[in-house]
Amino acid sequence: MPSFDFLIIGSGTAGLSTALGLSQFGRVAIVSKDRASDSASDWAQGGVAAVMDEDHDSIALHIEDTLGAGMGLCHPDAVRHIIGQGPAAARRLIDWGVPFDRRADGNWHLTREGGHRARRVLHCADTTGHAIESTLLQQVRAHPAIQIAEAHFASDLWLRGDRCAGAWVLAPEDDRPQLWTARAVILASGGAGQLYRHTSNPLVATGDGIALAYRAGAEIANLEFIQFHPTTLYQPGSAPFLLSEALRGEGALLRLPDGSAFLERYDPRAELAPRDIVARAIDAEMKRHRIEYVTLDISHQPGAQVQRHFPAIFAHCRAHGYDLTREPVPVVPAAHYTCGGVVVDVAGRSSIDGLYAAGEVSASGLHGANRLASNSLLECVVGAASIVADLGGRSRLPEKPLPPPAPTSTRSSNALSETAIRTLRQALQTTMWRAAGIIRNDADLRAASANWEEMATRIGDAVQGPRYYQELRNLRLCAALLTRSALLREESRGCHFNSDHPQRREDFAADSIHQRDRPDPFLRPIPGAI
Ligand SMILES: Cc1cc2nc3c(=O)[nH]c(=O)nc-3n(C[C@H](O)[C@H](O)[C@H](O)COP(=O)(O)OP(=O)(O)OC[C@H]3O[C@@H](n4cnc5c(N)ncnc54)[C@H](O)[C@@H]3O)c2cc1C
Repeated sequence: MPSFDFLIIGSGTAGLSTALGLSQFGRVAIVSKDRASDSASDWAQGGVAAVMDEDHDSIALHIEDTLGAGMGLCHPDAVRHIIGQGPAAARRLIDWGVPFDRRADGNWHLTREGGHRARRVLHCADTTGHAIESTLLQQVRAHPAIQIAEAHFASDLWLRGDRCAGAWVLAPEDDRPQLWTARAVILASGGAGQLYRHTSNPLVATGDGIALAYRAGAEIANLEFIQFHPTTLYQPGSAPFLLSEALRGEGALLRLPDGSAFLERYDPRAELAPRDIVARAIDAEMKRHRIEYVTLDISHQPGAQVQRHFPAIFAHCRAHGYDLTREPVPVVPAAHYTCGGVVVDVAGRSSIDGLYAAGEVSASGLHGANRLASNSLLECVVGAASIVADLGGRSRLPEKPLPPPAPTSTRSSNALSETAIRTLRQALQTTMWRAAGIIRNDADLRAASANWEEMATRIGDAVQGPRYYQELRNLRLCAALLTRSALLREESRGCHFNSDHPQRREDFAADSIHQRDRPDPFLRPIPGAI
């Protein structure tokens, strides 16, 4: 039985930074279900938000911007803590070797993104995530106290009494999980974008950490808040690719198949309206015209300028047969960011002793009803540091746990073939896109909810079974939880929009919470709300 001081599930920015911090206090294992770099972190483009220019920016302003995006559901203490730690987190990344861009005068080159009232986004050209991920991975691989197990899938958490003391881990090609024990377990498993037919997220984003934590009895919050990005390249069967909002900033227009622009009908700011308004407008037009995509057209701008401003996007479109400078390209909105997740306090502790969470899997209270661009990588690094401070500050952690009983299974997964499971996964993504996507309504949510119960009886809930089965098991559970919290929230706020309840309601200024032992989700007031 592999046994460590700390077991980290996931090797994105949150997992790797937690590992580097904890390595000073004991032996660390990271399990990562694919190649270590397969993560949303590696795909991040824009950068990391942090106050690095106090002449033109302030922590107070960054806090205000974050609270504004969160529309009344941010936890003020968490926002103050995470934003306040932003500059220190950025310096930690710099010390680890992340090569953020500098200006000619040597100062940081900071960009400004939607919702931020100052230039505060550190970046490495438009591939910031890859620069961070590869730098941290290099450090982790070179560290003698950290072991990284690629292609190892955490299928369930293990509790000894009330304390989380390990996880069941599937080795490659194995159907039977093995127990890995630790004094503390850290979930850093990212979001759940794969719940949807269209997503900007990598294939690994199947909400595993949320499902594992729920099954173990931890609290889960605000899953109904999924942020949708308005424009990803429509290319079924290929890896998703974001077409930056900066294109619209430079004059690109969204068009219907007949060539007409339509956003002005939805908002006077047209193409420059906020992300959620643009995504909803596209979704409404796609449903109205029964079309699979709309187009994004910047061909009326000088071609040389477009190529110079957007070299990576131009090259990617070109590789997929589209010349951005000459023709419109097909685009579709896509699930982009999971605002809710495993409830944690400012130290990163979940509601289960010994279980921590950092990064996109967590509900730290930073994002509330909507995430401010580039706050998520920041949350990964600050969340990691908080966990390190909490675990490192403990004079005595519990002893390493004793060997466990063998896993029990309610039903074998072998009844379903791999093909059948892949078909069910696609069906789930299609239903989620239609019923719990950008514009929701009560009837569709109710029908979807019933669907998840049927699927549960069909696929079972086996702790044994290969990764593709376990991922479907987790997606099904996340779909059920998300749909039920969307039904509970009879209002529209942030990135949750229900056409039967289009207004924001003050009696819903609360977190929606799921907990395994409570039959229904419930609302809980925001701690320290102002
Ligand atoms: C295209 C794109 C662009 C983005 N741009 C930005 C940006 O500019 N700025 C910003 O702040 N945010 C951005 N985001 C969001 C940001 O990238 C993510 O929120 C952040 O990287 C999440 O990091 P993480 O460490 O929590 O999870 P991830 O980076 O997703 O890592 C999760 C890890 O957990 C592993 N894992 C999952 N389940 C299991 C399991 N059961 N067993 C073992 N391992 C498991 C995965 O394999 C992976 O290694 C972007 C996201 C996308 C998709």
